[in-house]
Amino acid sequence: PTANIAVVGLAVMGSNLARNLASREGNTVAVYNRTTAKTDALLEAHPEAGFVKAATMQELADSLQTPRTAIVMVKAGRPTDAVIDELVSVFEPGDIIVDGGNALFTDTIRREQAVRETGIHFVGCGISGGEEGALNGPSLMPGGTPESYETLGPILRGIAAIAEGEPCVTHIGTDGAGHFVKMIHNGIEYADMQLIAEAYDLIRHATGKSPAEIADIFTEWNAGELESYLIEITAEVLRQVDATTGEPLVDVILDAAGAKGTGAWTVQTALDLGVPVSGIAEAVFARSLSSKPQQRAAGAALPGPSTPWSVQDPDAFVEDVRLALYASKVIAYSQGFDAIVQGAIDHDWQIDKGEVARIWRGGCIIRARFLNRITEAYAADQGLVALVTAPFFSDVMATAQDSWRRIVAGAAQSGIPVPAFASSLAYYDGLRAPRLPASLIQGQRDFFGAHTYRRIDAEGTFHTLWSGDRSEIAAEDTH
Ligand code: NDP
Repeated sequence: PTANIAVVGLAVMGSNLARNLASREGNTVAVYNRTTAKTDALLEAHPEAGFVKAATMQELADSLQTPRTAIVMVKAGRPTDAVIDELVSVFEPGDIIVDGGNALFTDTIRREQAVRETGIHFVGCGISGGEEGALNGPSLMPGGTPESYETLGPILRGIAAIAEGEPCVTHIGTDGAGHFVKMIHNGIEYADMQLIAEAYDLIRHATGKSPAEIADIFTEWNAGELESYLIEITAEVLRQVDATTGEPLVDVILDAAGAKGTGAWTVQTALDLGVPVSGIAEAVFARSLSSKPQQRAAGAALPGPSTPWSVQDPDAFVEDVRLALYASKVIAYSQGFDAIVQGAIDHDWQIDKGEVARIWRGGCIIRARFLNRITEAYAADQGLVALVTAPFFSDVMATAQDSWRRIVAGAAQSGIPVPAFASSLAYYDGLRAPRLPASLIQGQRDFFGAHTYRRIDAEGTFHTLWSGDRSEIAAEDTH
């Protein structure tokens, strides 16, 4: 056997990852694809990679040194299950199967359990960065056993993106932890993109600036604390002129956002965990709304405010939007990390939050300068209960909140939809509030369903005899 690593599935992601692996000193990469023509095409296009061709799964197993390690990059869902079954039938105890696809973390937990019974290691590994990342260095989020990471770690460190001298990979936790964290990454990505889109929309509608002018604003922002891949590419997209019409490309692209489902997974999971990820949820819902042409056509006739925003000082306004974006972004990340904290508790994972922020600094879509601040916040306090309360981030809120409030209020008054800005602010104010009207909700619940409530001044649970004399009795907590 000559190969030390295999890639199964040679579509865009798999072939790029295989080339990345092959380009690293010490790796010999075996490649397999269900349709052999694809394998042949890859070998022909990249003779420099020195790939070892496997026409069957058995050939793949035979070509690998032990412990055998194979990275699966096939369509998520059933195809992944099918390929895992085939690999299990030709691998031996101690070998490692890595699923690099976008699996739902609960599928990964299930697969890990099933594969573990054969003595083979199963590692669900989140991979971020799209095809460019796969080729030149992705951010990698492997789960699975610490033992499997001893073999896998050095290989993954070799192909990962490098940020400030360090590879963007760490062992996230056992079984589905890697895919869980990748899912949250995607959820945060949805929120980040929506927030940037709202910032653009506000500036455009309230100041009348052109997409090209707004592109310059984003380029400027990218030199400061908002520096990130998403801000950078936003400027590029806004600057693009359509060759056919001569119009800004952003004006000829149909305004219906697609989604592959990982944002929705994040929200569904957060609902199960009981973690408010309102910024992410609004971002997912905003895409849904954008893709409802019939509803939007019907809605176009609805009444709106009579006066548009009259911005007196465009520069001051743009700075307000920048700070509103920054504050909302902190909330989105804070909520995402809250979900990681709660997920780790529920699934018994030891996840180092600072490490997660560190490996997101390169290779992935949400790579950004301010992730360093998150790493620092968790380094200073591993038990941080809400990221936004860390000193650095509460200082950001102190600086940004007046701008944020002006922007959300102005947007509401002038009828510009800013769901993610507004819900992030509402979350922030909810978090700050010394008393929430949840007391009233408890009262309502007790009234119609005898769900009981607790008091601020006594232990135990209580129920008011609403349909009787309205006296209060001590109650068994029934819910
Ligand atoms: P696709 O998701 O389009 O999957 C195509 C690959 O799956 C082909 O190799 C295909 O083989 C194989 N396949 C499909 N069905 C089966 C089956 N029943 N048995 C065996 N093989 C099968 O490829 P991508 O490269 O786009 O993505 C691969 C994985 O990486 C996916 O899980 C995706 O979600 C994930 N991913 C994608 C990212 C991206 O930016 N695109 C980023 C990160 C992860 P054949 O040629 O024989 O049809």
